[in-house]
Amino acid sequence: MSEVNVHDVIIIGGGPAGLAAALYAARDRYKTLVLEKNGLAGGQIMLTERIENYPGYESISGPDLVAQMSAQAVKFGAAIAAGQSADGLLRRDDGIIEVRVNDGEATHSARSVILAPGSDYRNLGIPGEQAMRQATRVSYCATCDGAFYRDKHVLAIGGGNTAVEDTLYLARRFTRKITLIHRRKEFRAQKVLVEELNLAAGEHNIDIRLPYVAEEIVPNSTGTEIDHVRIRNVETGLIERLKVDGVFVFVGMIPNTAWLRGTVEINDAGYIAADPVTLETSMPGVFVAGDCRQHAAMQLATACADGVVAAMMLKRYFRDPSSWGRPGGDAGTNSGW
Ligand SMILES: Cc1cc2nc3c(=O)[nH]c(=O)nc-3n(C[C@H](O)[C@H](O)[C@H](O)COP(=O)(O)OP(=O)(O)OC[C@H]3O[C@@H](n4cnc5c(N)ncnc54)[C@H](O)[C@@H]3O)c2cc1C
Repeated sequence: MSEVNVHDVIIIGGGPAGLAAALYAARDRYKTLVLEKNGLAGGQIMLTERIENYPGYESISGPDLVAQMSAQAVKFGAAIAAGQSADGLLRRDDGIIEVRVNDGEATHSARSVILAPGSDYRNLGIPGEQAMRQATRVSYCATCDGAFYRDKHVLAIGGGNTAVEDTLYLARRFTRKITLIHRRKEFRAQKVLVEELNLAAGEHNIDIRLPYVAEEIVPNSTGTEIDHVRIRNVETGLIERLKVDGVFVFVGMIPNTAWLRGTVEINDAGYIAADPVTLETSMPGVFVAGDCRQHAAMQLATACADGVVAAMMLKRYFRDPSSWGRPGGDAGTNSGW
């Protein structure tokens, strides 16, 4: 028996990946529903006023870009439902996938699903962090914001591979001085990276302080700049006031996938596993796109690219559901799918 309200595709998450997927799916005339847990679609990029690395825009704010993306998807027929937090996924025997929202308040069904719930940057949770984040003086992404700190002094916080790699990236390309603190006496990053960091420290003015934690980011009197950051030596208790222009927080990411455990395959860090070419997950009919995907590049442009690929793969799946799980290499030709 066919159901009236079955969508062709439900996209979970209205960030750049989800909106790009919605545009492509709706333009292919698929009945497309985007479920977004927040009151407004847009995702993480809504949090920034300055994007300078999205091709086609010299500079644009996140909210402006996302408003255009949403309008474009809706223009072609996608429906965006805000305030709908997906918390359950079930594939029925007839291949229809049910998506439960808001603790069972409703269930939507579709022939396919694209998972695009993104990942959140882990915060320090210290006073001043959110206020200075809004003032764009606290960043979580060196690739996104490094260029804003040319010839400045910044504080980097973290001890893993990303912290060390991105400190090197910032020091070699942009900053006049970078202070790197980590709460333990040794970095968690790979030894080879730590050696590289130590070698580069003199030449690129990297001041490495271990074991230190940041306790507060203190704004200036107008609240637009950082006055100083209070850091504390974990061993001696000694407190210092560090004068810096910006803070980069590299303490990890949390994929928004806890609710998916027991459904699609997820790696230890919480990222959704998928074929890197087709973006097929372990559950037939369910694709993944964007920052929640294992090996994602965590950028706006790549999130959009994932959304496009996942939406384009719908055709192959609808045409031949048995193609699921076939190696991605034969998914396309130079003339596209
Ligand atoms: C401050 C900041 C600045 C940045 N600057 C840049 C930049 O300059 N250039 C760049 O390339 N990248 C930048 N990024 C990174 C970029 O924003 C991300 O790579 C991109 O947004 C990832 O898109 P996404 O759609 O995969 O995930 P997200 O943007 O995280 O979107 C996921 C969406 O899914 C929703 N969601 C989550 N769980 C559920 C659920 N269970 N049910 C329904 N909805 C759900 C979320 O509310 C969110 O709207 C920046 C990020 C931040 C935070």
